[in-house]
Amino acid sequence: MFTQIRAYAIAIVGVLCLAFVVGGCGGGRLISQSQEVSMGQEAADQFDAEKGGRDNDPAVVSLVSTIGRRVTQVAKPPDYPYDVRVLANPQVNAVAFPGGRIYLFRGLVDKFDRNPDHLAWVVGHEATHVAHQHSVKRIDQQLGYQAVIALVLKQEGAQQIASAVAGLMLLSYSRNEELEADRGGLTYTHAAGYDPTAAVAVLQKFQEIQGQEPNDFEIMFETHPGNTRRLDEVRAHLRNQGWRGKYYQY
Ligand SMILES: [Zn+2]
Repeated sequence: MFTQIRAYAIAIVGVLCLAFVVGGCGGGRLISQSQEVSMGQEAADQFDAEKGGRDNDPAVVSLVSTIGRRVTQVAKPPDYPYDVRVLANPQVNAVAFPGGRIYLFRGLVDKFDRNPDHLAWVVGHEATHVAHQHSVKRIDQQLGYQAVIALVLKQEGAQQIASAVAGLMLLSYSRNEELEADRGGLTYTHAAGYDPTAAVAVLQKFQEIQGQEPNDFEIMFETHPGNTRRLDEVRAHLRNQGWRGKYYQY
């Protein structure tokens, strides 16, 4: 009996050490930053293909990559290899993958008339989910050791992990994570030199079209916290920071 317990204990400690070595000292997380990036990229590639691939309208691609570069440059730390892309998909939506891949759907870009301030806040919102590691924390909790060990031993592969990551992406963010992403979006938008009050216009537009657009993903249309609450908090944050602009005067 004792021997058996000891064997289990050794095995468990072994797993923990492996996880710790692989995960480094990142605040008790099992998944290291480089694993987070590679998992996120694999899941994003899969998602990209399923959702119709990338948009190749040069004007839109250039607009979004410029906004993406400016906003994600200030989205630090930690330093992720951000990559903001446009999906050739008519949905009004946006999504972020762990490690820095962000997609704006073409429907969203057009719905906001390609307005750089509006799009900048959406990118900032998504970049905050990445920088604050909202998805990866959940993946870490739910896949935990399995994912780490499979990655280390190159078992069964990346494909399955990518699918699991993609599945976890389908879960909603919590109310606090959404509000945090809204505030982070304001900070990044302001630091990147865009008008952060555009957030007010974006949320008002979402309020208008809520329920009218088919939507099967994250984010912007989440019912919790409702748009009214989000608008209130965004306005309060703008006032606290003393940020004024075209879309919110006080
Ligand atoms: Zn969000």
